[in-house]
Amino acid sequence: MANTVDSIPARRVLTDPAGLVRYQHDEAEWAPYGTPLAVVRAQTTDEVREVVRHCLTHRIPLVPRGAGTGLSGGANAVDGSIVLSFEDMNRTVHIDPAERLAVVQPGVVNDDLRAACAEHGLWYPPDPASSPWSTIGGNVATNAGGMCCVKYGVTRDYVLGLEAVNGLGEVVSLGRRTTKGVAGYDLAGLIVGSEGTLGVITEITVRLRPARPQERTVAGYFASVVAAGEA
Ligand SMILES: Cc1cc2nc3c(=O)[nH]c(=O)nc-3n(C[C@H](O)[C@H](O)[C@H](O)COP(=O)(O)OP(=O)(O)OC[C@H]3O[C@@H](n4cnc5c(N)ncnc54)[C@H](O)[C@@H]3O)c2cc1C
Repeated sequence: MANTVDSIPARRVLTDPAGLVRYQHDEAEWAPYGTPLAVVRAQTTDEVREVVRHCLTHRIPLVPRGAGTGLSGGANAVDGSIVLSFEDMNRTVHIDPAERLAVVQPGVVNDDLRAACAEHGLWYPPDPASSPWSTIGGNVATNAGGMCCVKYGVTRDYVLGLEAVNGLGEVVSLGRRTTKGVAGYDLAGLIVGSEGTLGVITEITVRLRPARPQERTVAGYFASVVAAGEA
């Protein structure tokens, strides 16, 4: 394996059985999982492309993995697969306060992006309860949403553009880097929620909002659920 994905240093190609264990499944312990052939911790889009092409050539199943907080077994390894981990692609590439957008690698943790945006007076609303651990790549692949989604929308509502490696090992750029984007098919939107079935996401451009004023929590007590709902 280390010899066949030539450009990736052996230290980022894990084959030691003890090291593979933590990459076998996500948080869905009930879902079936197998033992991967190897785990590759890619650092660049070129490396991702090389892994995809290697898997294509040798007919090896490929399982992309963010933080492994998924609850459906989507990141679970199958026997003989390669798990492609994004934990080392965790850089916020660019935050543009004027355009109110951020460009990130897929392994950036949700809360880290939110903290980086806050330094610019900006806010990234999608807030799955797993935000201290889950990655933006995983959030995009699952179209994650949390408490804020009722008012502010889910991940899909914030993805402007994506870079991905498709099943042929080609790097594709989808979507846009502008607030307005009305032309053509919404191919970036198609990738959102596809759980790695349509391609491997290597870069994400998200829309941001101005930071909100300081929040306050208010606790209310009601005699019934109906009364609470009416309030
Ligand atoms: C305590 C807890 C709370 C949670 N709360 C919520 C919640 O409020 N809302 C919610 O929606 N979910 C929630 N989840 C589920 C989970 O956190 C989300 O689905 C999250 O988006 C997964 O991100 P991840 O980085 O862990 O991805 P992973 O679990 O590693 O992967 C999830 C899926 O995305 C694919 N994937 C990952 N990275 C890429 C990539 N770069 N390219 C292509 N495919 C990729 C994987 O193959 C897999 O199919 C929660 C989970 C836990 C454990």
